[in-house]
Amino acid sequence: MESKDPVTDTALKSVLIIGAGFAGLHCARKLAAVPNLCVTLVDKHNYQQFQPLLYQVATGILAPENAAFNLRAVLVQDTNVEVTLAEIVTVDLAARRATARNGAVFHADYLVLAAGSTANFFGIPGVAQFAFPMYSLQDAERLRSRLLELLEAADRRGTAAPGPAIVIVGAGATGVETAGAIADILQRMPPHLYPHLDRHQVSITLVDKGATVLPGFTAQSQAYAAAILGERGVTLRLGAAVREVSAHAVLLADGSHLQADAVIWAGGLKASGLAAALGLKPGHGGRLDVQSDLTLAGYPCVYALGDFANCRDASGKPLPQLAAVAQQAGRHCAANIAAHAAGDPQTPFVYLDKGVMAMIGRNAAVAEIGARHHPISGVFAFAAWLGVHVVLLTTVRAKMDTFLEWAWDYFGRVHVSPVLDRPTWWQPGGAPSASGRTLPGIEARTPSDHRERPGQKMASHVDWAPETPTTPRGPRPNS
Ligand SMILES: Cc1cc2nc3c(=O)[nH]c(=O)nc-3n(C[C@H](O)[C@H](O)[C@H](O)COP(=O)(O)OP(=O)(O)OC[C@H]3O[C@@H](n4cnc5c(N)ncnc54)[C@H](O)[C@@H]3O)c2cc1C
Repeated sequence: MESKDPVTDTALKSVLIIGAGFAGLHCARKLAAVPNLCVTLVDKHNYQQFQPLLYQVATGILAPENAAFNLRAVLVQDTNVEVTLAEIVTVDLAARRATARNGAVFHADYLVLAAGSTANFFGIPGVAQFAFPMYSLQDAERLRSRLLELLEAADRRGTAAPGPAIVIVGAGATGVETAGAIADILQRMPPHLYPHLDRHQVSITLVDKGATVLPGFTAQSQAYAAAILGERGVTLRLGAAVREVSAHAVLLADGSHLQADAVIWAGGLKASGLAAALGLKPGHGGRLDVQSDLTLAGYPCVYALGDFANCRDASGKPLPQLAAVAQQAGRHCAANIAAHAAGDPQTPFVYLDKGVMAMIGRNAAVAEIGARHHPISGVFAFAAWLGVHVVLLTTVRAKMDTFLEWAWDYFGRVHVSPVLDRPTWWQPGGAPSASGRTLPGIEARTPSDHRERPGQKMASHVDWAPETPTTPRGPRPNS
């Protein structure tokens, strides 16, 4: 019997994928093998960013090129996939039509929404202005500049002056990994690298409103991570909600202040801005609620994936915002599109949970293996983390380069050597600037400045409606 669905009636079908992250890229790669489909992959960047390694870019362990991959090069063999650089600003779901900021209009038989997520500041005053989010390649590069500037400024001030104070907000995997990496670098830094910097004067504080680090991991992994961070000089302020961030301080809900020369924001995610422009009622975290086959209710040929979607497992539990979930959903979406185009039934997405991981620092990581999350920690988990991430990297060249960088870092003596090629880029607001302005107070601080400032005037009220800020993460082996 002939199909009456207009989408299944013509021979060559078109697919428009918005967002070339883990979900969109895996969807495109799988569709590349399907005959009679042509795919347009639109992204506002010309690269896929590999978020799990951003903290290593921010701390100078890896170069930006190790965590971002040119999309045209990645898909060069896939002749039925066309890559387009454009930022989509509106989507007509019923017509499956998307309009870009530059006015370009895209239309397709199937529409895949995979625009990922962005930092969620929960409306906390000062965060957008003064904090350094850790969610994109640009964020990581901006933070790297800031951290290098702080080390240079501290070296200029000399050992008698207080060292820089770094506050990381959010003790999920991103916050723990960032805090651990900064602590490691300071511990392993040869004394003559910054001869006038007393590295023991650099303070690293990890703040979270929850009671533990690594929420979502087992208590065993949490205890291990907290102990290692403590040993390596990271101060934990748990059960401490952030109320406001200013140029020099973080105000906590209990009224105390933390001095801060850099506030790193790893406090939570929400769906990227495009979600709000679709005319749909947003679900948790601003994400789109999807049906089990990843389509939007009422729009049979429109799919939403990865961090852009709220997807549930068979028991109704929401799936976490993880690279492995996004990758598997991308491949499943491709299979469903191919099935629909062939007139076959679509199937529900079932996530295969292979475990979670978090790096804490040199020879120290936690890994929870399999759906039952069997915990291991220490050097074996450290090796597993490195191995899994090398395997997951998008290109063969990236796998080789990154492996070499890690080997150099592990066995070498100088662990942070990136060039400070954009010394003003850390400034509040985030945009590169030609002004060369120094953050007030950095050069001028005296030892008495290096403490909490109870009297500092800050707003007394904030409109903060927190969602669960962090989810356990860690690419799964062979996902
Ligand atoms: C710092 C950090 C560390 C993480 N570490 C881990 C980890 O160790 N393990 C793990 O499993 N998960 C980790 N995650 C989570 C994981 O990275 C995400 O779950 C995953 O990236 C989601 O994939 P996605 O394709 O949905 O979104 P993304 O990978 O974010 O891709 C979305 C894409 O959409 C594009 N886009 C957005 N808006 C538009 C628009 N309007 N027009 C065009 N293009 C647009 C973006 O440029 C981007 O390329 C981490 C996340 C972060 C932020």
